[in-house]
Amino acid sequence: MIIEPLNNPRPVELPENPGFGVMYTNRMFVQQHTLDKGWHDQRVTAFGPISMHPVAQVLHIGLDIFEGTKAYRRPDGNINLFRVDRNMARLNRSAVRLGMPQIDSDTHIGYIEALVKLEHEWVPNLPGCSLYIRPVIFSSEPTLEVRVGREFMHYIFLSPVGPYFAKGFNPVSVHISDDYVRAVRGGTGEAKTTANYAGTVWVAEQVRQHGYQQVLWLDAIERHYIEEVGAMNIMFVRDGKHIVTPALSGSILHGVTRESVLQMAPDLGFTVSEERIDVDEMLADIAKGRITEAFGVGTAAVVSPVGKFGYKGKEYRINDEKTGPVAQKLYTALTDIQYGRAPDPYGWTRQIKVR
Ligand SMILES: *Cc1c(COP(=O)(O)O)cnc(C)c1O
Repeated sequence: MIIEPLNNPRPVELPENPGFGVMYTNRMFVQQHTLDKGWHDQRVTAFGPISMHPVAQVLHIGLDIFEGTKAYRRPDGNINLFRVDRNMARLNRSAVRLGMPQIDSDTHIGYIEALVKLEHEWVPNLPGCSLYIRPVIFSSEPTLEVRVGREFMHYIFLSPVGPYFAKGFNPVSVHISDDYVRAVRGGTGEAKTTANYAGTVWVAEQVRQHGYQQVLWLDAIERHYIEEVGAMNIMFVRDGKHIVTPALSGSILHGVTRESVLQMAPDLGFTVSEERIDVDEMLADIAKGRITEAFGVGTAAVVSPVGKFGYKGKEYRINDEKTGPVAQKLYTALTDIQYGRAPDPYGWTRQIKVR
């Protein structure tokens, strides 16, 4: 791997709240893939525009997959990565689904560690902040043929981020979409690919104009079973102690945060189950007060409480639109492990020593 020298690097300046995905570090990792050479030309270069052929496949048939994970500043000044091996495994599953070449997980983690180490001063030491890590693979092959690609580019960039929701740990309003769907069984919903997002942003904009912040997606076939909220997995709390989340259906993304909550929750005194959740039953349970909390889970927000759902012209408020104790407890327990404030009994973190 070549580490190119930087001309005039920007000095590290981290604002109180860096926002989400609006500022970047000075460097990025890049490599190329061709059929004859495999992955090659690994380098760390200045963060900046990527030059590509106007006929690059990614621009015409959307061959692009990505990941999202974070680096956290520990109290001792070193840096933690959280379950990055799960992200790498998922990226390789996405690659298979899109006919793209895989990247050896340990090799890829090595690139991430090297890049974060070089850019370690950009890992914020502020509450709720971290360094977002975004690996991307896309087909750079110039062709209009609709088929698997033969030339790819892989890059990794870093973005100092604040809390995902500008309003802080405040419950969001969620509109349940019955007109539009995110993914269908047999489609690409389990892959982290740009196509899954392209169809959602206009829908999100429509609900925003009606006063909602997020969209809850139902299954595409029966339009009855709950799948995901925005780009997060969703969980509900029954009677204050049982956490239930939609079972992986073939169109739900396998979230690392979801997986972590399911594993950790029993150790915090909760029971968990993965079920097919009927939207009408769930809303009836909210109305009866049997469902005491709902929240999204994902790397960006960690835990994002839902204050109310809107569906077919009716509103369903949860826990007086306040953050509930289960969401709070899970958020604290998970972030304590991520930031290295608490012991990590699960072996989920990898430390990058910079001190
Ligand atoms: C990335 C993503 C999630 C959350 O996954 P994490 O690994 O927990 O960050 C959930 N749903 C969708 C659609 C996603 O793209």
